[in-house]
Amino acid sequence: MPDRITRRLAADSAGFAEAGALLRAGGLVAFPTETVYGLGADASNGHAVAGIYEAKGRPRFNPLIIHVTRIEEAERLAVFSPLAEKIAHQFWPGPLTLVLPKRENAAISDLALAGLSSIALRVPSSATARAIIEASGRPIAAPSANRSGHVSPTLAAHVLDDLEGRIDAVVMGEAAEVGVESTILSLLDDRAILLRPGGVTRTDLAAILGYEPEAMDEPHDDKAPLAPGLLKSHYAPEAQLRLDAETIEAGEVALLFGTFRPKGLEAAKLSINLSPRGDLKEAAAALFSALRLLDQSGASVIAVAPIPDFGLGEALRDRLARAAAPRS
Ligand code: AMP
Ligand code: MG
Repeated sequence: MPDRITRRLAADSAGFAEAGALLRAGGLVAFPTETVYGLGADASNGHAVAGIYEAKGRPRFNPLIIHVTRIEEAERLAVFSPLAEKIAHQFWPGPLTLVLPKRENAAISDLALAGLSSIALRVPSSATARAIIEASGRPIAAPSANRSGHVSPTLAAHVLDDLEGRIDAVVMGEAAEVGVESTILSLLDDRAILLRPGGVTRTDLAAILGYEPEAMDEPHDDKAPLAPGLLKSHYAPEAQLRLDAETIEAGEVALLFGTFRPKGLEAAKLSINLSPRGDLKEAAAALFSALRLLDQSGASVIAVAPIPDFGLGEALRDRLARAAAPRS
């Protein structure tokens, strides 16, 4: 249903002002953040927020993260416990989302919160994202700027591949520096719960919380999941993914990390190493681009060599597991 011209805006002060004006007028504008490119809309405008769900084909039960530029603005939207204050001051601006009790009078569209009484908030560090949000003068709801279920965008070109003709503008900015989405931490109760691994690592959070790193996991019971929209199958390329591959089979393409060489690699038509020197930060920044490139090779299987499960590796493995999950 492409129904409009998608404008390319320069990442300069004129472009930021234009992006801000479009957002204020209820438009949909994609822009870089330090995690991935986001698709922004005015979070206080239900009609604008509805546009995000429509452009992405995102299920409406999946609430959106609200982006602001200062802690004080976040405090006007949510109730911060002393623990939440401490975490916010430590990690904001940056790739951490906090799920907090929403303030009764917070002017945020119910659709953006999927009707919940909680709100997910983030203060991004990307100077481009901050300038655009600032120029809009509004809290900005922004999920990743891709069709729902597709691989997240780390370049403006990825956004156009997925959303050209469906959104009002893309700010043609820098490559996303972190490359995976934000860590989501719930602080609804006294206990912090890690809902999604991401740009801030479990060990960094545990150090500030004074927890054991494992003590942050969601308690396993049959309650509704705390993070409603975290779908098992996500980031799905056309190709199937095979994880922790120690051999490459005929016809497969390969995603590698570090110095590990799977057997049969010579025969692979294409292989991409996320970080030959085994740096997880470099690997995270390269992940989504690499998945897109391997998928474009037309191979039916992407074999993924083992990736460590510590530090940023937890977020990498999480995204790969979702990309590999059976599609519903
Ligand atoms: P994303 O898909 O990257 O935009 O991340 C959105 C995720 O954040 C959702 O799928 C939820 O798991 C979580 N989230 C967003 N808003 C809320 C909220 N109001 N309450 C609880 N979790 C939320
Ligand atoms: Mg997403």
